[in-house]
Amino acid sequence: MSVQGKKALVTGGSRGIGAAIAKRLAADGATVAITYAGNKTAADATVAAIEAAGGTAFAFQADAADPASQRAGVEQAAAALGGIDILVHNAGVAEFSTVAEDSDATYDRQFGVNVKGLHVGTRAALPHLADGGRIILIGSVSGELAFPATSVYSATKAAVAALARGWAKDLAARGILVNTVQPGPIDTDMNPADSEFAQQATTLVPLGRYGRVEEIAGAVAFLAGPDASYITGTTLNIDGGLTA
Ligand code: NDP
Repeated sequence: MSVQGKKALVTGGSRGIGAAIAKRLAADGATVAITYAGNKTAADATVAAIEAAGGTAFAFQADAADPASQRAGVEQAAAALGGIDILVHNAGVAEFSTVAEDSDATYDRQFGVNVKGLHVGTRAALPHLADGGRIILIGSVSGELAFPATSVYSATKAAVAALARGWAKDLAARGILVNTVQPGPIDTDMNPADSEFAQQATTLVPLGRYGRVEEIAGAVAFLAGPDASYITGTTLNIDGGLTA
């Protein structure tokens, strides 16, 4: 039980990778709060699954792109948990468009959720975050390599890794470790493994398949636990060899 007794906040924990992270941290002994954008049914299902397995979980609606809403979500989570030991910034959005098709709105939405939401959320969490705590950011291999029609998304994920490197230095004196997990293609609502894009993407993956959400959750659990005590400011690619 590597995170036994710890208090974890996972943003975007209603579905996909975030739901898997919340369930894994709870299975490893943490009390978990999740945020979600609008899908209360899915958020309640994540909480119910954790409770059915004997854990404790809370869910709060908080739009990561709206600073007031994001701050309120962090405050509610910190109050319910009684503090925060592990903060996982997972909430994210991706929109497919070429630079010729991009608009101010597609740019603002992706940077709003994927970058500003993390900045606002971390600043809100810091007064509640225990010394020696962990911040884990879900970036993407898209931060390192380009797929067609995803330049803005890629730019947001490069920014995520940059934030983590900076925060690792800013927060080292408090013993707070900050790292980025960069998934390759993972089968979720955002990136279903049965799409046309998936057929092309899979050909680029040496292991020849999409990843499972549990394979990302396992990496997050490692970075949240005691075995990662000398790891900060790094990126961990979980991508079947895509970026090798
Ligand atoms: P999903 O679309 O399956 O789930 C997204 C989650 O984020 C949901 O819980 C959703 O809440 C929440 N969310 C979306 N927008 C907001 C918002 N404005 N405020 C708060 N929560 C929000 O995505 P994935 O699970 O696939 O992705 C999770 C993370 O992993 C993202 O950061 C993504 O960029 C990253 N990633 C995913 C990859 C993949 O191949 N799937 C690859 C690399 C990185 P709700 O249910 O309420 O809508």
